[in-house]
Amino acid sequence: MMLLPGSTLGVLGGGQLGRMFALAARVMGYKVVVLDPDPNSPAGQIADIHLKAAYTDEAALLHMGELCDAVTTEFESVPAKSLEILAKHCFVAPNAAAVNIAQDRLLEKTQAQAFGCDTAPFANIEDEASLADAWSKINGPALLKTRRLGYDGKGQARVNSFDDLVAAYDQLGRVPCLLEGFLPLSQEISIVLARNSAGEIAFFPVAENRHAHGILDVSIVPARVPEATAERARQMAARIAEGLDYVGVLAVEFFILDAGRVVLNEMAPRPHNSGHYTLDACATDQFQQQVRALAGLPLGDPRLLSPVVMVNILGDIWRPEPAWDTLFAHPGVQLHLYGKQEARPGRKMGHYNCLAPTLEAALALAETTRTELGIG
Ligand code: AMP
Repeated sequence: MMLLPGSTLGVLGGGQLGRMFALAARVMGYKVVVLDPDPNSPAGQIADIHLKAAYTDEAALLHMGELCDAVTTEFESVPAKSLEILAKHCFVAPNAAAVNIAQDRLLEKTQAQAFGCDTAPFANIEDEASLADAWSKINGPALLKTRRLGYDGKGQARVNSFDDLVAAYDQLGRVPCLLEGFLPLSQEISIVLARNSAGEIAFFPVAENRHAHGILDVSIVPARVPEATAERARQMAARIAEGLDYVGVLAVEFFILDAGRVVLNEMAPRPHNSGHYTLDACATDQFQQQVRALAGLPLGDPRLLSPVVMVNILGDIWRPEPAWDTLFAHPGVQLHLYGKQEARPGRKMGHYNCLAPTLEAALALAETTRTELGIG
């Protein structure tokens, strides 16, 4: 079934990812419904209809299900029950089971291994009694990560000894965690793909990602990795998408180790910050692709049209307002702001894409503009 322009698409969550989905959908002629309790949410500002209610509000979900022909989500901690309620009234993608797996690091890694993907060594910490076992299994430098609700480096701690582990577990609130062996990373990459109900998959080019303080800082495309590495990552991402019968946009992050080993880190059941470069540098962007997958359309061409470096803009550089004029002085830079009213340190306020005929020139443009804006 194809939902053509004029149909109504809904998104659970009103953050920047929902905003860019709503923008893409409206440009393509769809009506958009956003569910988010925040009256000023970035996506609510763009929606035809903004339902201001909690994600668990059954009456609001029912209303949304009646208004929409199809609904997707823009954040992974969406309650599985909410997706199930919606699914009684309209098409929902990705499916609740896939979102549930992506929400929990233990399920995510276990499932990834079952699909034949390599991961960091890990041990489950269900409660205090499992700390000793987990430490003896990993037995070395490790990261303790909460199983749920961790993002942008939040909810994790580096541990080098059993005493560190006990203290970190306490500090993270004694919630279920995963202890992960600390790997010597040489690079981090991600793949964003789209899969539609017909099982068609379109891969965006591999992004090479740099993080600062646990938050994505820069994505460089094309990634400077051998083709065999890119192919290995694409294969793993495809196995996950197919194994979960995933419909929509899926992001998968990988670590590359020195010997060229490709290790799956995590997945996000939605468009991803490391796919924002597609907005200006690909024939179809990740949000247009999300609309197409949700609406049951054939997928668009994900081809890269230009080398690009994406730079994240965090609230840290509001002193009080960044010098946007310096950015607009560079014709190769495209600015995207998310309409957030309050800037806070670490808060994602926007991003910009630096396009140039060569990757070296795009990297140089990113460096110059970062210095001018006071980033990093
Ligand atoms: P995550 O929230 O799992 O994506 O982790 C945030 C960042 O921490 C990653 O982008 C890596 O830079 C680093 N990291 C996470 N897990 C590991 C690991 N097992 N070994 C080394 N570095 C890691």
